[in-house]
Amino acid sequence: MSVRQQVMRFFLDVLYPPRCVGCRERGSWLCQRCLAATPRLPADHCRHCAIPMSGAAVCPDCWRDPPEFEQVSCAFLFEGPIRAAIHQLKYRGARHLAEPMVQAALTELSVPPSDLVVPVPLHPRRLAERGYNQSALLAQALSAITNLSLVDNALQRVKDTPAQVSLPGKERWLNVRGAFHADPGAFAHQSVLLLDDVATTGSTLRAAARAIKRSGARQVDALIMARAVIH
Ligand SMILES: [Zn+2]
Ligand SMILES: [Zn+2]
Repeated sequence: MSVRQQVMRFFLDVLYPPRCVGCRERGSWLCQRCLAATPRLPADHCRHCAIPMSGAAVCPDCWRDPPEFEQVSCAFLFEGPIRAAIHQLKYRGARHLAEPMVQAALTELSVPPSDLVVPVPLHPRRLAERGYNQSALLAQALSAITNLSLVDNALQRVKDTPAQVSLPGKERWLNVRGAFHADPGAFAHQSVLLLDDVATTGSTLRAAARAIKRSGARQVDALIMARAVIH
């Protein structure tokens, strides 16, 4: 953090003292107790889509139709305080939650070696509505902490798809297929870490990874803050 950022942080903390998103306790945006109580993604999960399962490294869906990214890194299930934090970050303008969430993820897992980090983009219409892309904020935080280069203008969302959350499983893939476009050659020979806030089936990561691969990337991995599991 630069001196300017530290000064900004000091004044922000004075004006808006951090309160935990889980329990409202003062002192931090995500307190240690709430983080400790957040359910972890079980160690046995599909290496591509992160669905919890035992007995194999890849789930039947990813086995039949392998995605074009290698591995997803994820620490938490989309439950409890992490779910609350993602909700606030996404829909309530709580931009300040991006950094503590990335910090929390990094205490649980290591980032796969990559050349660049690329946030999953929003469609320009949705970006205009929300005013920011929550995944880009997460990617900025990751880039600031790890020095990984951030590229957030070479991958675009070209189809304004309905929110994935409103769709049943099979339709999610049809919904996002072809939704992304990467500038030709933008990722040539690079290994790219794709970053998103939450995944439910991995369809969005699949579609984004495909576009990045088509623009020449050598390898794509993914990092998400949480995996939603539909019971
Ligand atoms: Zn708390
Ligand atoms: Zn899978």
